[in-house]
Amino acid sequence: MRMRAALAREIGQLTIEEVELDPPHTDEVLVRMRAAGVCHSDLHTYKGELRAVPPLVLGHEGAGVVEQVGDGVTRVKPGDRVLINWIPACETCPTCLSGRYNLCERLAATTFRALLPDGTTRLKTLDGLALKHYLSVATMAEYAVVHEASAIPFPADVPFEVAAVTGCAVATGVGAVVNTARARAGRPAAVLGCGGVGLSAIQGCKLVGCNPIVAVDLMESKLAFARQLGATHTVNAQEADPVEAMRTLTGGGPEYVFDSVGSEATILQGLFAARGGGTVVVMGLHAVRSQVQISPAALILQNKRLLGSFIGSMNPRLDLPRLIELYRSGKLALDKLITKRYALGDLPQAFADMEAGKVARGVLVFGKD
Ligand SMILES: [Zn+2]
Ligand SMILES: [Zn+2]
Repeated sequence: MRMRAALAREIGQLTIEEVELDPPHTDEVLVRMRAAGVCHSDLHTYKGELRAVPPLVLGHEGAGVVEQVGDGVTRVKPGDRVLINWIPACETCPTCLSGRYNLCERLAATTFRALLPDGTTRLKTLDGLALKHYLSVATMAEYAVVHEASAIPFPADVPFEVAAVTGCAVATGVGAVVNTARARAGRPAAVLGCGGVGLSAIQGCKLVGCNPIVAVDLMESKLAFARQLGATHTVNAQEADPVEAMRTLTGGGPEYVFDSVGSEATILQGLFAARGGGTVVVMGLHAVRSQVQISPAALILQNKRLLGSFIGSMNPRLDLPRLIELYRSGKLALDKLITKRYALGDLPQAFADMEAGKVARGVLVFGKD
């Protein structure tokens, strides 16, 4: 079938054009997309800065309606509303069996290379160029063919745009707090960087009862979003020394620091600010390109923990429906994360707004019917 999609034919080249999508294979489903979240990883990917390189169709957050299923599909049926999960864990490898679904051994060979879990693709341009599916899902298109493990059903009273952002930003931010740090009520926390992931970590801290919750960013616009979503204090790192501010506002340093930036500067700020025995969780994908020199003495003598968290250490089939239920019961304000909606053709503007800090999370919204 033909459909419109956002794609990178080459590194640095972003176009919205008609492409060809083949039908789903045995264990795959065809989803008519209704919403797709705009994430920094999509931007870094079309610029060729991450592991998956063009030519590919972008997008890894999304939600839509199942239109067609392969003959081996058992988890969803046509008409189901599904949110897209870019961790299509095999559930049979030793890592999955040990409960670390986010580290499934199949991901390295397929998902991170922008292939479907069987190692192939269903996409091509009208002039015959084979296109890969970013993170096995390629949600910035009118339709997506995904493995059934990437399609997580959700109830009809949840807006598509809310379900869309749950699969990456929310899972990463809330999961870092709940799963990776196992943060506890009453303990002080700080969040570095207030984009979609950082704002979700702030909501996660509020959910578990951390107090105070200090948000740090360089942009006043993002700090305003942080206050709306649960930060008790905000620090503009252009105006104040973030380490000193975090230590003062938390009476000696946060017990938990959640770093959604992952730069050398923020990782060190987190380590210096955390109180003795505290935990620093790094979750920003920028960390992939960072090099950090750390004095082991700071970790040992202060008994600090430095943890990595990949997509919130989540088990997708367990955690994604739980996050949706937390939204339905009013405990996560996921709708407040979405501050701007765009048509597919406005993706360049959505990327520009994201880089300028104008949005908490921007979402592409596809034709309503
Ligand atoms: Zn993402
Ligand atoms: Zn696995």
